[in-house]
Amino acid sequence: MASDKRALIVGIGGQDGALLARFLLDRGYTVHGTSRDHEMASFGNLKRLGLYDRIRLHSASLGDYRAIVEIMSVVKPTEVYNLAAQSSVGLSFSQPVNTINSTVLGVINILEALRFLCLDARLYNASSGECFGNTGPEGATETTPFQPRSPYAVGKAAGHWAVANYRDAYKIFACSGLLFNHESPLRPRRFVTRKIVAGAVDIANRRADRLQLGDLAIVRDWGWAEEYVAAMWMMLQQDEPRDYVIATGAPRALREFVAAAFDAVGLNWENHVDFDPALSRPSDVAYSVGRPERAARELGWRAKADMDDVVRWLVEEELRRPREA
Ligand code: NAP
Repeated sequence: MASDKRALIVGIGGQDGALLARFLLDRGYTVHGTSRDHEMASFGNLKRLGLYDRIRLHSASLGDYRAIVEIMSVVKPTEVYNLAAQSSVGLSFSQPVNTINSTVLGVINILEALRFLCLDARLYNASSGECFGNTGPEGATETTPFQPRSPYAVGKAAGHWAVANYRDAYKIFACSGLLFNHESPLRPRRFVTRKIVAGAVDIANRRADRLQLGDLAIVRDWGWAEEYVAAMWMMLQQDEPRDYVIATGAPRALREFVAAAFDAVGLNWENHVDFDPALSRPSDVAYSVGRPERAARELGWRAKADMDDVVRWLVEEELRRPREA
């Protein structure tokens, strides 16, 4: 029965947390969510989607095993989605300890709590396509070796292997999603996709003149976040727990993203964008694309939106957005 389904979304205030909450509420789940400090958090994404009053919120620091055990024993979730992390690759170079702690300790504490409480809950853990590093044009599958190129990816890779280890050792139903970049209007401006879209709209509306960006030659695999949260849920509905690459499979250069965003507001990007070497990372991933064949075969999941759809929808939403102070 749908009403017996209780989901706990760890890190519910972020982009994926809010979109997943809506997806699960629409399917009759009772949804609980955590933030590190739920009284201080703004939950802007939940409010924007009109979900804030429908979620039961809890505070939990992921490094605090006791807090995780307490929430798990109160909520008794049937499904746990661990989405909390310092999720910016760029920021991870200046906050390596915070980032790695957030990506490793949280998942181990959740796995330990499931084991200690003998809870029959299924776990989705947010791993990342960043774990693969440079995939080259052939792309990454679930068996491609990890070659992380940032503190963020190092932490995600460790969390990924923790899930695999607990699945093997203790027969916990736990899956890692190796998701490639997925976007929505809920992204904050520190992410390059939102920065580009907001920058193009600001220039078109004469609120700004130039946009500074790093290396435009990098290649990524961009999808639409709403579709990706559905894949998280699908993984937990399978008979056996497995890890899945979730991606569009279509490589596109950042330059193409920039050109599409400026084109959507009637501008030529080459007249407005400056290269700022300070925005380059100490080590970056030049080419990142996923091969989601296992997801297509076993989950029946395929990305419908491509980068051009993503850019168009982001620009439309940015044009509707009230001007930020
Ligand atoms: P997000 O918007 O940044 O949300 C992550 C949430 O984690 C935040 O709402 C925050 O909640 C919590 N958080 C932030 N810093 C933290 C820290 N140092 N320690 C513990 N919690 C922290 O991320 P997202 O885009 O929704 O992504 C969800 C998950 O998928 C993340 O783990 C991300 O790394 C991973 N992922 C995302 C993508 C993507 O393209 N979006 C791709 C692959 C993997 P509070 O401030 O309320 O505590």
